[in-house]
Amino acid sequence: MKVPRVDAEKCSACGNCEAICPEVFELGEEHSCVITDDVEGLEACIEAAIENCPEDAITFEEEEGEAGGEGDGGG
Ligand code: SF4
Repeated sequence: MKVPRVDAEKCSACGNCEAICPEVFELGEEHSCVITDDVEGLEACIEAAIENCPEDAITFEEEEGEAGGEGDGGG
């Protein structure tokens, strides 16, 4: 499953991502944070936030960690 992340070092707290996708991003005092890991159906909104992030601080990639072994989807 893909999960969104904000690189706190890059983020300039401009607020774009929260404006575009408030279900996923929340602007803190110094940088934006991801507030959920349940992003099903929010992929397009996350992609839009990525495109509108002036600092390229958002990533949306496969989560690393425990791999079950069952492939889902593929393609
Ligand atoms: S759009 Fe990018 S730079 Fe702006 S608050 Fe979100 S992560 Fe930070």
